[in-house]
Formats: sequence, structure tokens, C-alpha cells
Amino acid sequence: MNNKANYPIEKLPVYEFRGSISEIGHQYGETCREQIKELCEIRIGAALEHAQERGRSFTKKQALELISQNTPIIKNFDLEIYEETAAIAESANVSFEELILMQGLTDYRDYLSWGKIADGFGCTSIITPRQNSKNGKLLLAQNWDLGTSNMPYVCFVIRHPKDKPSSYNLTVTGGLSLIGLNSHGVAIGTNNIKSTDSRLGVHYLNLIHKAMHLNSCDKVVNMIQSAQRSGAHYFLIGDKNGNSAGIECTALKSAIRTSENGIVTHCNHILDKELAKLEAENMGDSTCARQKRVDELIQNKKLCVDSIKDILSDHENDEFSICRHSDMNGISTNASIIIEPEDGKIHACRSHPHLGEWQTFSAF
Ligand SMILES: [Zn+2]
Repeated sequence: MNNKANYPIEKLPVYEFRGSISEIGHQYGETCREQIKELCEIRIGAALEHAQERGRSFTKKQALELISQNTPIIKNFDLEIYEETAAIAESANVSFEELILMQGLTDYRDYLSWGKIADGFGCTSIITPRQNSKNGKLLLAQNWDLGTSNMPYVCFVIRHPKDKPSSYNLTVTGGLSLIGLNSHGVAIGTNNIKSTDSRLGVHYLNLIHKAMHLNSCDKVVNMIQSAQRSGAHYFLIGDKNGNSAGIECTALKSAIRTSENGIVTHCNHILDKELAKLEAENMGDSTCARQKRVDELIQNKKLCVDSIKDILSDHENDEFSICRHSDMNGISTNASIIIEPEDGKIHACRSHPHLGEWQTFSAF
């Protein structure tokens, strides 16, 4: 397989904001205004197209009216997340509904479509607990795979909100936290899964952003389990005391993942038997191939940052490889992240883990 890329490999842009929650939102919206507008157009277009392909036609106005029903739910879930989102939207000159549809694309797109998803979207993640890592410390890692058209918008945002922990996050411009670490040592990442019980609710970035305000793995798990979730996602969570959890969630149900050897891997199909009954459809060959391959690669190994980079760069199985190149279906690995919560470090690169330039950030 060709493991080069036919698009430019650019360094991850880093934005750093400080002040009140709403000041941070305004700085973010103003700094990234043009890119946020562009990404809203691209993603709203993609959501409408996805729904149309599944027999549901909406005008943009109709879709935004439907999505606006989530606004009071988000506000009730966390007033500060609502305020930051509203400030980003105001300063970027987009509406609140446009921004939340952009941010919560995969959840709200499924709500609009209420149907199937094409094989493609998908990530590969690895939780390496203390006993399985070379230095005896917890490691969280994942590739973040999505349409290659999203890659120019992948960025890294550092927030220093007043009276809250600082957070260090990979996301897309205008997005809330997506994969990150905070100054309390709480780390979180996510993979996309699909279930038929989508409903009105908060989208997954709301949950991840709220996790960045908490100080332990347990609190994050409780917060996610008790939230009115709009759609299905898998979350990998860790903290500076070495605690970790992988949790599969549909909109209504959730299940903690465990594994025999301790390392918890996850791709894009539901692994829990009970939750799998709610899976929207067969998620395709890529996720099964990646799950099988990542499980082979972690067998009887003690992992470290470098060996995880090698796993995330694996090209076995051609178009179904862990490191995804866009030759086949326009989906590629848009970013790669490894987090060391116990040492307060997050390593991130845009594009493929073997081509992109890695940067390391310290959260404490
Ligand atoms: Zn690659």
C-alpha cells in the first residue's frame, strides 16, 4: 500500500486563550473566524447530504430549526459550555445552531438521518494500563480518522479559564475539546460508534469539554453515564493516578470495557453484547480489520510512546489498515494523539503518525 499522502502534511496549529469562559470563546471565534465559517458550511452540507441519501430531505433552515431543540438541553447540561459556544459563534459570525451542528456533526447528523452510516468514519484507540506499559504508567492513544477534507481544520487549543483547570486539546477549528488532557491529569479521547437510539440531547463534544473541568476518571465516567446523550460514542478516559476506563455509550445505555490482558482497544463497532443489539448497522470491514490487527499488535507487549506510534502507523491489510490513507474512500488519519496522564504530557500530530510532525505539550 502507498503510505505517502497526496495532500500537504502541515504542522498542527496551536491556539492559546486565557480569561473568563466567555472571553476565551470570543478570542477563539475571532482568531479562527474564517475557518469556522468554512467548516460550518462543509459539515452542514455533509449532514444534509447524509440525511438525503437516507431518504430525509431538509433545507438548511429546517435542519437548523430541528437542531435548535438541543440548545436548552446543552444550556441545562452546563451553562459554561453554552456560554463558551455562544461566544465562539458570535465572534465567528455564525449562528449558535450552525456551530453546534458543526461541532456535534456525527451525533446530530445521525439525528437528522436516523439511519445508516457509510463505512468510513473511524478511529483506533488503545488504553494501556500501568501493568502493560514499559515505564509502569498509564498511556492513552488513538488515531483520529475522518474525511480528508477536515484535515486543514485540525488544530490544537490550549485554554486557561479562570477558576477552572487548563486544558490541552486536539480538535477542529471552532470545536470544543475532542481529545485532550487537563491540568488535573484527566485525559479523554473518543471513537465514533452508531446506534439506533439517537435522540435530542447534548453532543459528544459537550461531554468531552465537561470532562476537562473534572479531576478524576471516576467523575468523568459518572458524568457521561448520567448525561442526556444525543448519540453513540466510545470514550477512553484516564487520570494522573493511573485509573482508566473505556466506556461504550449509545444514547440510552452504556457499558464499561474490560480485556483479558489489561490493554483495552476499540475501533468503530460496538463490542458489548447488550449494546450491540442497538447498533445501527454493520459498520463495515475497516473497523473489524483494525480491531483484529490492533489486538494482534498489543499481544504480550509492554508498550511505550514509541511502540504505540508504530502501532498507530501500521499499514497491514491495505485499505483496512490502522493508519488510514485517503486513496480508497476519502477517509484518512487526520491526527494522532498519545497521552501520558501521570506525567501531564500530551503528544499530538496532524495527519499520519509516521508523516506528521509530533508536538508535545505539558499540562502540569
Ligand atoms: Zn500511514
